[in-house]
Amino acid sequence: TLGTDWAIAWVRRSAAVVAEHRVELITLDREIGDGDHGENLDRGFTAVIAKLDGLPEGSTPADVFKLVATTLISTVGGASGPLVGTAYLKAAGAVNGKADLDSAALVELLTAARDGVVLRGKAAVGDKTMIDAWTPAVAAASAAAEAGADEKAVLEAAADAASEGAAATEPLVAHKGRASYLGERAIGHRDPGAQSSALILRAAAEAAA
Ligand code: ADP
Ligand code: MG
Ligand code: MG
Repeated sequence: TLGTDWAIAWVRRSAAVVAEHRVELITLDREIGDGDHGENLDRGFTAVIAKLDGLPEGSTPADVFKLVATTLISTVGGASGPLVGTAYLKAAGAVNGKADLDSAALVELLTAARDGVVLRGKAAVGDKTMIDAWTPAVAAASAAAEAGADEKAVLEAAADAASEGAAATEPLVAHKGRASYLGERAIGHRDPGAQSSALILRAAAEAAA
């Protein structure tokens, strides 16, 4: 099972990977948005990292995710702050009180996170948003868990599906967010939020021992 050490490692790795891919995410958002996605997430995760050491001894994974949620919501301007923040908030709710997460709990966590993004942003699969990464990730994680995969394998299945989902946004017209103003001009460009979601889900798998 995976516990608080994993949750913290996931957050640290997310921050590192967002910083590493900051320019790539900015470039993607410059093509079909306003060019700030990498900056928005980097600012948010940098603020999260600054608060991580303040977590009290005995914190649960849910406590870690609540800290991420409140920090992202309060520090990230733009659509992605409340969207990703809500994902973490709902993830926290799904595993509240649990110290150790098994494969089934991870599926519940990922499902709740995805549902949180949908609740907030009302996007469906194919709208060219982060949901195009999250929804296949949830489906793949669920199938892997049903087939008896361990925690790391469940997260790897989610990450692989999220990467494919992000790539699959390239030929789409957008129906939500700034890219929806572009109509057909959004075709041929990958959605920045789907790409960052795939990076964050990859970080979750890499953080699993
Ligand atoms: P902003 O568009 O306000 O500048 P960001 O650039 O940080 O915010 O985030 C843009 C990303 O947010 C998009 O690439 C898309 O994936 C995601 N997004 C925008 N609107 C929605 C929505 N309604 N539902 C889900 N995701 C959305
Ligand atoms: Mg933007
Ligand atoms: Mg913006």
